[in-house]
Amino acid sequence: MNLADNIIWLFDYDLTLYTSEERYVLDSLDKRITEFVQELLSVDFEKASQIRQKYLQEFGTTLSGLQVKHGTSPNDFFDFIHQPEYLIYPPLSVEKKSILENLPGKKIVFTNGRADWASAGLKAMGIFSCFEYIFDLKAMDWIGKPVASAYDKMQNFLKSHFKENDLTRIVFLDDASRNLPMAKSKGWFTVLVSETLSNEFTDFSLESILDLPAILPDLMERLHV
Ligand SMILES: [Mg+2]
Repeated sequence: MNLADNIIWLFDYDLTLYTSEERYVLDSLDKRITEFVQELLSVDFEKASQIRQKYLQEFGTTLSGLQVKHGTSPNDFFDFIHQPEYLIYPPLSVEKKSILENLPGKKIVFTNGRADWASAGLKAMGIFSCFEYIFDLKAMDWIGKPVASAYDKMQNFLKSHFKENDLTRIVFLDDASRNLPMAKSKGWFTVLVSETLSNEFTDFSLESILDLPAILPDLMERLHV
């Protein structure tokens, strides 16, 4: 077996597997989250937006704030916000499919959302079959990146599914720079997929996932394959 076939790719989903030009996808979900807050607290959309901003700042995510302040069940929250008739998914991308198919190794989605949102989006883009698994917020016991336990759980999953020798070449791709330091501390190679500046925890940076082929030769060299 070629060493490159042992690379494990951990892809964030939102704004990583679809680009910042497709931000309207996330906007459609954000709108639904605000509507959840609106219904739960019987406030208008404007007030619900303000509460969301407050929770985002204070707790990292709206869901965390809702859990702490109102005992919201994560599944109730996701059941409401993931109703497909309110959402927009990223468009079909033959180019993305070709890039992912030509990437050697195993590909896993590592997302702070619930798996059904990512899987619907991957199907819409025509790339669902490129991934072996979606490791989601539920698998992290509802506490997501950048909290250390999320990465520990991801690592334990990898240990139980792959041989120890195959865990030396792990590449982590995410659009949020705050998610990189913990990945780096695990010995994973980090790729920031964003237009924002890279930091000391970034091994490589890309503006879009579509630029992945351009860094592949350098990345392979760093991975010694
Ligand atoms: Mg993201």
